[in-house]
Formats: sequence, C-alpha cells, structure tokens
Amino acid sequence: MIIVLNNATKQEDVDSFVEKLHSDGLQTHISAGEHTTIIGLVGDTSRLDIGTIQALPFVEDVKRISEPYKAANRKFHPMDTIVDISGKTKIGEGTFSVIAGPCSVETEEQMTEVARDVKASGATLLRGGAFKPRTSPYSFQGLEGRGLELLLLAKKEVGLPVVTEIMDINTLDMFADVDVIQVGARNMQNFNLLKELGKCDKPILLKRGLANTIQEWLMSAEYIMAGGNNNVILCERGIRTFETKTRNTLDISAVPMLKKLTHLPVIVDPSHATGLSWMVPTLAKTAVPAGADGIMVEVHNDPAKAWCDGDQSLDPKQFDDLMKDLKKRVEFEGKKIV
Ligand code: PEP
Ligand code: MN
Repeated sequence: MIIVLNNATKQEDVDSFVEKLHSDGLQTHISAGEHTTIIGLVGDTSRLDIGTIQALPFVEDVKRISEPYKAANRKFHPMDTIVDISGKTKIGEGTFSVIAGPCSVETEEQMTEVARDVKASGATLLRGGAFKPRTSPYSFQGLEGRGLELLLLAKKEVGLPVVTEIMDINTLDMFADVDVIQVGARNMQNFNLLKELGKCDKPILLKRGLANTIQEWLMSAEYIMAGGNNNVILCERGIRTFETKTRNTLDISAVPMLKKLTHLPVIVDPSHATGLSWMVPTLAKTAVPAGADGIMVEVHNDPAKAWCDGDQSLDPKQFDDLMKDLKKRVEFEGKKIV
C-alpha cells in the first residue's frame, strides 16, 4: 500500500501517523520529496481500511498495490539505480556497458588473450566462468579456484573489472577480488544463496531463470535487496519456449517492462539467448533501442575449440565488428559505451 501525504503535512503528523502504522505491525519506507511525502507500507495491509486512512486530513491519496516487491519497485524509488563497479565503471548511469569474455576460463593464455582482445575492442567489463553449472555431470565443470586465479590474473593484466558466477555460498570468500558476482539462470531461485548475497556489498548480476516470469525474477532481486544489498543488475538471457531453432527465446520485451517496473539496471545476454554465434550481433544490437543498460557477450579466441558454449561464442574479430556497429547505435540513442 502507498500513502501519499499532502504538501503541507506537518512533521509531527507524519511522525505520529508512522508510529501508529508501526504499532499495527507494519514497516514503513518513507520517501520525502520536495513536494510530496510518500509512505510505502510493507507487511499485511489487509486489515487496514483505505476509507479511514483516506479520511485523514493530511492524506492526499491511498493506493493498494499488488506487487509484492518493494525494494526493487520503481514506485518507491523513481530514480534509476546506478551500480558502481569498484570505482572503475558504473552500470545504469545512462551509459551502455559491455561485458565480454569466454563462457569458461580454460587456460592462462586463453583467458589473458581474450581479455586483451575484448579490452582493445572497448569492452567495459571482463567475464569468465570458473564454477560452471552444466546440465551433464560428465561435462567440464569449470576450473573452480584455479579458474578464479586465472580470471584475476587477466584482470590484473588488462585492468577491467571482472564478472564471474557463484554456485555455492560456501565459496564466497574466494570472490573477494571479483567485482561483480553472477547468479546464473539455474540459481535464480536459490533463495538461500540470494539471502546470503544480500548480506554482502558486492554488485550482483542476477540472470533470469530458464522459465521464470518477470515478477518471480523481481522477487529474487527482492531477496538480495531485503538483506541490504541494493547493487543488483538484472540480465535477460532468454527463456524456454516451444521454439527449438534457437537455444532460448530472447524476451526483448522484458527490457522495457523491467524499466517500467523497477529502478534496477537491465542488461541483455544475446549469447545464451540464441546459442548461435551468427545471430548474437543482431540480438546484441536490439538491446540498444530496447533501452537496456548494456550487454554480456561470450567471446573466445578460438570458438571451435572452446570447452564450453563455443557455438554461441564470437571470435575477437567478430566481437570487434560488433563493437564498431554497436558504438554507432549507442551514440544514436545519445549514450556512450563506458
Ligand atoms: C553463463 O553466463 O555462463 C551462464 C551459465 O549463463 P546462464 O546462467 O544464463 O545459463
Ligand atoms: Mn556460457
């Protein structure tokens, strides 16, 4: 429920009203603007009588809202959230971020080479998976601790902040020098993991689940934010549909929908969305007019030999071409890749 107070409401009226709401067992989020004060209520508001509240002389409007997410809701936080990445770059600042790198970290040469290439082409963050969620237990599971070491070596070499996936909260200590922690599609509803990540202050890249609605996704963001970590970036990476020609179906409409519903930054992962490298540039470019704050693209120095997701990886030349094209489109929208 949202309660909008009149312009001229006295502070003592606000205070005693808020006290009364607290004694009813509700939590309040107060947004005091220049012209209006808005009180957002969290808790069971079902016993509150809208008519009685509306009758208070200092109340301008009362609305029941159906969305169960409060912290992620744009209604309570109209301004866009800007996520600062270790003081090196920002996501959601009206700029366009490009996260690029291999699906998984394989060797020192591979990781460093790709890092140098994507940096030279203008990527703003480097990715590389060390803990890999694979459908088959017999597939390569990632280099784990050694993978993180190699990713951090590449970070040192090129100076880009790094993004990598966590699968188990017990490994969190190993992520101390990681700049953005990724929660993969398969863990979007791993609520214990989300709760623990809510207690840390690192930016979290939260991917959409394989078959999850936008509301479920926002509720997962809410789990992280409810713990006190507001640095959440949402990543649309395609969802399961009846279509089999592509690995997933990119739900590009999720981007404008999220921009309306939440203040959190939104990026698009065209690689997992299609599974086909030739289609990645096209999907990457659609993210720009859709209003996304960036993309995350898989790039490998030799996609045919990649240990994981080679079919959807761009080679450095293809990535460079994409960046040139993307730059023009981003500039056309009045933004910059930084
Ligand atoms: C990944 O980014 O490497 C990954 C496994 O993605 P997703 O969780 O979207 O499948
Ligand atoms: Mn991958």
